[in-house]
Amino acid sequence: MVYLFELIIIYFFIYLIPYTMQSEIFNTDLFKCRHCGEGSIDQLLIARLELLVELSEVHIIITSGYRCPDHPMEAKKYVKGAHTKGLACDFQCSPEDEYKLLKTVLLIPFTGIGLHLKDTPKGRFFHVDIVDRSGRRVVWTY
Ligand SMILES: [Zn+2]
Repeated sequence: MVYLFELIIIYFFIYLIPYTMQSEIFNTDLFKCRHCGEGSIDQLLIARLELLVELSEVHIIITSGYRCPDHPMEAKKYVKGAHTKGLACDFQCSPEDEYKLLKTVLLIPFTGIGLHLKDTPKGRFFHVDIVDRSGRRVVWTY
């Protein structure tokens, strides 16, 4: 019952947030390529990230948004990833908020969710994207 109520609220917000609206939480500079400072991210992805922050009440730190094809992470890929299209974003939160963030991230209509929740030099992070997968939603771990 609570779950249904949450879903109704989420979809209400999704249709109310116009794609072109300026984000109140995220400055678009946060999503520029870390390698060259260029590029931009999809407004719909920002709207869904805002929803994630509002519903979870968790502070997130964007670690990677848009990546140009020359970004070291993309340059080694034969097929360039969703980050090069501005459709994906990686972020972190404090470890004590991860459970709350994970619970909420599944409620938002991202189409891809990747989880790197191991303590390695790469750090702990969440990946979300809005790549069109013909109606499929996928989740994976790193
Ligand atoms: Zn770049």
